[in-house]
Amino acid sequence: DGSLDEVDPEIASIIRQEKRRQVTGLELIASENFTSRAVMAAVGSCMTNKYSEGLPGARYYGGNEFIDQAESLCQSRALAAFGLDPAEWGVNVQPHSGSPANFAVYTALLKPHDRIMGLDLPHGGHLTHGFWTAKRRVSATSVYFESMPYRLDEATGLVDYEALARSAALFRPRLIIAGASAYSRDFDYARMRGIADASGAYLMADMAHISGLVAAGVVASPFHHADVVTTTSHKSLRGPRGGLIFFRKALEAAINQAVFPGIQGGPHNHTISGLAVALKQAASPEFRAYQQQVVANARALAARLQKLGYTLVSGGTDNHLLLVDLKPAGIDGARAQHVLDAVHITLNKNSVPGDRSAVIPGGVRIGSPALTTRGLRETDFERVGDMFHAAIGIARDLAASTPGEGKLRDFVAHLEAQRGQRADLAALAAE
Ligand code: PLP
Repeated sequence: DGSLDEVDPEIASIIRQEKRRQVTGLELIASENFTSRAVMAAVGSCMTNKYSEGLPGARYYGGNEFIDQAESLCQSRALAAFGLDPAEWGVNVQPHSGSPANFAVYTALLKPHDRIMGLDLPHGGHLTHGFWTAKRRVSATSVYFESMPYRLDEATGLVDYEALARSAALFRPRLIIAGASAYSRDFDYARMRGIADASGAYLMADMAHISGLVAAGVVASPFHHADVVTTTSHKSLRGPRGGLIFFRKALEAAINQAVFPGIQGGPHNHTISGLAVALKQAASPEFRAYQQQVVANARALAARLQKLGYTLVSGGTDNHLLLVDLKPAGIDGARAQHVLDAVHITLNKNSVPGDRSAVIPGGVRIGSPALTTRGLRETDFERVGDMFHAAIGIARDLAASTPGEGKLRDFVAHLEAQRGQRADLAALAAE
């Protein structure tokens, strides 16, 4: 057996280039992060070779002595990371990612065509929360369940809980989802619990984006009020790509059987091992300090952008992300993303309240977790704001006239030249 370079130089080279891209650009995608070397060592280990359908101590295959130990450790660390009492809460660490975790919960708690309510996708919700359009039921959630979205109050950019309560009283959902992919404020879980109770609905929190912040206690915790809490492991939590489902003990059998044999087969034991490592790291004082810095950095960037005249949805941030409404700046999110990409500032276009087109949305989403992992602090994020501003200026010129293209080339050349001087980054990329 040769090394990756020997066996497959093409993939080896692609990985090297991707690594260089990751370490030489400004990574501002709110759902991404850099996981630790220790996590990657576990993910790239022999744990990938083993089949282990079932749960620790009750498997369909032999040879699972060490797999059982890894999964049990992962489970107990997951409960400890969120301060949960094992007498009240259990956790399934097998979902292959966030979307299957959510779908497993729906199939565990609902019958086909039961009604659900989640935050509308154009207002910050996730596809798996039931998005559909007039033309198509877009995600499997909307194919198998009937979904009526709730939305933000467009004037404030905050969840419109009163409208949600009114709609829920009419729609009588069986499940309400508190959680988002692009919402910069805390959810009012107590209020959503009340609304769910009034309809006899379950309350599920999808904390995929904020689970690291929840573990560190820097944003509100959904655990006091939710029946079930799902999360991905690879966003603010800094683990490998994967998913978890926390459930109140009464739901244990239903959730576990929905994951396997319901929608999955064998667990990804390399991921579960990497997740166990990440959860160990999440218990450290450094992790808490990191999450505090994530929020401080997002706030510093928000303040800088506001000073530069940008409009933020909801007027700011309480967590790791901000949504910039670029319409007042005279540019759309798609063009902005394109130009920012050209100068190695990586973020994503995003719908903002009031958008008419989902294809060309009016804003961008910016997150602080990845660059905070790289060690950037508030003053660095202010500079990131200035770079963003310079690039948006170019994007606006470009949208208005062709001479902007020359300017874009000059700007890219300037940044490339600066990048060339950063030998430390180049060395890191070559590692
Ligand atoms: N839930 C939320 C709130 C998300 O933001 C995401 C992903 O961005 C998911 C679920 C789905 O996670 P995955 O992409 O791992 O399936």
